[in-house]
Amino acid sequence: MPYPSDDPTLIQSVFSDLSDHFGPFVWWLDQPPLSILLGAVLVQNTNWRNADKAMANLGEHFSAEGVARLPIEELAQRIRPSGYYNQKAAKLKALMSWYQSYDYDIELARQQPKAQLRQELLAIKGVGQETADAILVYALHKPSFVIDAYARRLFSRNGLAVPKRYGAFQQLIEQAVPNDYQTHAYFHGLIVEHGQAFCRPRPQCQQCPLRANCPDAQLATSPAQ
Ligand code: SF4
Repeated sequence: MPYPSDDPTLIQSVFSDLSDHFGPFVWWLDQPPLSILLGAVLVQNTNWRNADKAMANLGEHFSAEGVARLPIEELAQRIRPSGYYNQKAAKLKALMSWYQSYDYDIELARQQPKAQLRQELLAIKGVGQETADAILVYALHKPSFVIDAYARRLFSRNGLAVPKRYGAFQQLIEQAVPNDYQTHAYFHGLIVEHGQAFCRPRPQCQQCPLRANCPDAQLATSPAQ
């Protein structure tokens, strides 16, 4: 196959190899919907350890109503471990205000069409496409593939002609994979797991399960650490 390519079989083959290596697992879908909503904002520009610390600091206020009621200054102090806490406090307030429009009822929100929900989420200040899609897949159970830095790195290195535009890259992947939220959730989880274990900024190609077919493997090979 000449590289870079936009052949959907390249995408399918990467997911097949990742799935063979990591096996089935549930990624984030088993968390309470409120944790997913809050986590999708708290994890922006940081890691899950810090996002979890921030969430734990909510203490007795860990509920949609609790976050909505907290004075914004106190909310900001409580989520301080996640960084950008003033901005994130404002984002969480806006997100909870959206959630309130569904009476804080995730089932009610899930009954709405995906296009409408995506539009509503993107209208919230501080919610970009990646955050909106994470909420759509993991909290609202709508297929909407999450495009992140891990996905860009993985597929660029594997020879895919990765479009710069978020929507174009998302469309390329969505056309190649089954259109259901469980698959989108699992495949995104595979990308993150692989990106943290192998395809790091400095890749660990020697142990990587994609090494046999990855056109970047030779160039990027680095000693095991
Ligand atoms: S072989 Fe190396 S560059 Fe290719 S996917 Fe694996 S870790 Fe990334």
